[in-house]
Amino acid sequence: MIKFLDLQKINALHAKELKEAAAQVIDSGWFLMGNQLNSFEEKLAKYIGASHAIGVANGLDALRLILKAYIDLGVMAAGDEVIVPANTYIASLLAISDNQLKPVLVEPSIHSYNLDIDLIEKSITAKTKAIMVVHLYGQVCWSDDLQTLAKKYSLKIIEDNAQAIGAQWNGIKTGNLGDAAGFSFYPGKNLGALGDAGAVTTNDSVLAAQVRALGNYGSKQKYVNEFLGLNSRLDEVQAAFLKVKLAHIDAENQYRRTLASAYLNGIKHPEIQLPVPSNKNFKPEENTEHVWHLFVIRHPRRNELQQYLTDNGIQTLIHYPIPPNKQLAYKEMNGIDYPITNEIHETVLSLPISPVLTETEVATIIEALNRFQ
Ligand SMILES: *Cc1c(COP(=O)(O)O)cnc(C)c1O
Repeated sequence: MIKFLDLQKINALHAKELKEAAAQVIDSGWFLMGNQLNSFEEKLAKYIGASHAIGVANGLDALRLILKAYIDLGVMAAGDEVIVPANTYIASLLAISDNQLKPVLVEPSIHSYNLDIDLIEKSITAKTKAIMVVHLYGQVCWSDDLQTLAKKYSLKIIEDNAQAIGAQWNGIKTGNLGDAAGFSFYPGKNLGALGDAGAVTTNDSVLAAQVRALGNYGSKQKYVNEFLGLNSRLDEVQAAFLKVKLAHIDAENQYRRTLASAYLNGIKHPEIQLPVPSNKNFKPEENTEHVWHLFVIRHPRRNELQQYLTDNGIQTLIHYPIPPNKQLAYKEMNGIDYPITNEIHETVLSLPISPVLTETEVATIIEALNRFQ
């Protein structure tokens, strides 16, 4: 069987280094807020090009803490609105709701699956304080128009960069495009820890200090609590693992691009819609680098296609089967129709793509897809 994502093989690529990293932490006897975290934060900030990186417990916390920090700093307040793509993973919305802010859903483009930047302005109200862009599936969601819009209405731009570490827009990495960014190092992400982990990056020193304090009981100095914080720390073992894997991320993302090109060139099925690695908002002179966290195709008979691939020994997944506005957790939105989001959720299928998927396996998958009737 061709697995969707073989985490055992992915980490076996770096087994020796990972075991040495774990041994170092065990031998050090220091498990939280130590040298491993400091040096991972330094390396991540340098990689992204941002002045600050703060390790936190997971990607959801990264986004929660950014918004919480903005509330503490008086940039926004309970009841304010944050624009977010309607087809994102629910964590983007949860971070907003958890802070008593209101997620305002805007439809994506059917081509890029990213927030349709042209649709944002009509959703802006006097209460809108931020736009959360999500670089979904590893593709950059950015444009000059987005920046102009944010300036015009004095909105913060928060990047949900959970799926796109290493992606770039005009030579600038995602995570360094907006005012602040949240990263997830969930094991299945392009940079995956061996457990939960996340980070915040920003060039805003005041925001960085607030996020850092909030993730550590609202404290800047031990046992002195200035703010109502939480416990959201990136532990030493995960930081040590992430340092090992960060050194390989560019090569792994490059390999994902090779596999994605093979899919894009090889899939010839008339009913299969291939992902479009561009965005109607991108101008021709803009240069963007996709990191292919997911390779998502669409087919009008998606469930049949998935079953057919399963029968042919090919594991696939659906990202995501139910959009946030149809989840019970968001009952108040259940009645609102988002036709493009619906269309996406009903037709998408994610094919295997990872640093350990072979080109031969991709050829097998392409051949099976082209034979589907
Ligand atoms: C994975 C993910 C998150 C949440 O990250 P966790 O580390 O699982 O909390 C947030 N947003 C998006 C788009 C994600 O894919």
